[in-house]
Amino acid sequence: MQRKEFALGDIVEMKKVHPCGTNAWKVIRMGMDIRIKCTGCGHSVLLPRSRFEKRLKKVHPNKSES
Ligand SMILES: [Zn+2]
Repeated sequence: MQRKEFALGDIVEMKKVHPCGTNAWKVIRMGMDIRIKCTGCGHSVLLPRSRFEKRLKKVHPNKSES
């Protein structure tokens, strides 16, 4: 499997849709753990990088934000 590239501020889709019905998460923290925030309800979750990458489906790079 190809390694997915993602960066701070990117919008990502996960394999599982959030209970609020939105499947667009914003990467708000990078490190050993990744923090993503649901763009629908504002809920944020912290995931270990390996688990995040396993659940990641698609990345929409956001180059306008740094
Ligand atoms: Zn949500």
